Amino acid sequence: MSRPRPLPSTAIPDRYAQRLQALKREFQELEYFCKGTLLKRMMKCGKTQCACRQDPAKRHGPYFEWTYKAKGKTVNVKLTRDVMPMFRAASRQHRKLRSLLNRLERLSQTVLRYQARLAQSADRD
Ligand SMILES: [Zn+2]
Repeated sequence: MSRPRPLPSTAIPDRYAQRLQALKREFQELEYFCKGTLLKRMMKCGKTQCACRQDPAKRHGPYFEWTYKAKGKTVNVKLTRDVMPMFRAASRQHRKLRSLLNRLERLSQTVLRYQARLAQSADRD
């Protein structure tokens, strides 16, 4: 006589369910994020007599830029110094998102592998 097959939702151990809830809470705390790179550049101008031509220390700037890829193309967005803190924060949010996604992926793999094993052993009974 075989044991009743456990329902998938009830078969997931509490510790996994708790980790999923914790990760979901972290997702809810996410703010706007930006992918790509934040650049700070010193530039040479077009004037032939300007000191920036010879001396790297006399280049103009800094100029700030955000670059990212969209549909295979690089997009450049000019930024002013005052918005940089916001973009640096958004960049940190993106790292947080990536870390969260990785952790959620590992948890999903663990739980789904667990489910697959459970289903196999239920079949053998
Ligand atoms: Zn110049």
